[in-house]
Amino acid sequence: MENYEEYKEAGRIARDALKLGIKNIKEGKSYLELAEEIEEYIKRKAGLAFPVNISVNSTAAHYTPAKHDELVFEKGDVVKIDVGAHVNGCIGDTARTVEIGTKKYEKLIESAEKALEEAIKMARDGVKVSEIGKKIEECIAKYGFKPVKNLQGHSLERYNLHAGLSIPNFDNKSQKKLKAGQVVAIEPFATDGAGIVVDAGIGNIYRIAKNSPFISQIRKKFSSLPFAERWLYEIYGEKTQSKLIFFIRRGLIVPYYKLVDMQGGIVAQAEHTLLIKEDGCEVLTI
Ligand code: MN
Ligand code: MN
Repeated sequence: MENYEEYKEAGRIARDALKLGIKNIKEGKSYLELAEEIEEYIKRKAGLAFPVNISVNSTAAHYTPAKHDELVFEKGDVVKIDVGAHVNGCIGDTARTVEIGTKKYEKLIESAEKALEEAIKMARDGVKVSEIGKKIEECIAKYGFKPVKNLQGHSLERYNLHAGLSIPNFDNKSQKKLKAGQVVAIEPFATDGAGIVVDAGIGNIYRIAKNSPFISQIRKKFSSLPFAERWLYEIYGEKTQSKLIFFIRRGLIVPYYKLVDMQGGIVAQAEHTLLIKEDGCEVLTI
């Protein structure tokens, strides 16, 4: 496989960055401090494939601290840490859920992890993505929870985080199949809520929507990958907020909104990046 070593390396770095985050998270610490620790670790060894997502309680995904974020972890928080590293555009994407100081959501967290484990056992050349989704849903249902149906796993290509193929977290009847040589991220989300997430305001994560000389510095720095509002300060300093508004109004960049369970249920996530093979798969982020 082309770029195998780069994917391996990105996977290892993402894994270790996630481990660092899990070790360092604690009650009273700010989201911003944790995000910066994880991102600094990745930057010493590789590129950032996307801003660290720190999604708490009913937020499932797409929140990263803002430059002037003041949020702090509290006892009982259920925190999804989702990290991405890239080596030459080859991405490792991995996530886990931590409950701070309590064990109320142990089973919910376990259901997402178990579903990921079962999905990994099935992943190989020729398996339908809907069969994997079915297994994920069944596994989460056994624990008495629901998968989040409108969040999916995805194929990865160089400098492309969501490369076209989706791996559902339920049986969506898709006839599409995994193919040997593909790199995919599988990411079950489990909840005690609705199992549908909706946009819920600013997540501080953006992507380029249109090519324009106005944003050449952004493209140069982050290529086609998602970036954080925070990171723009490295380019624009104190002008960041006005630049951001200008670029959004012109449709040059678009936000990813924070995604929250519709009924306010608590959400847990587990994610690994895998290389699909003829007879199984290799987990790159383990
Ligand atoms: Mn992820
Ligand atoms: Mn992912």
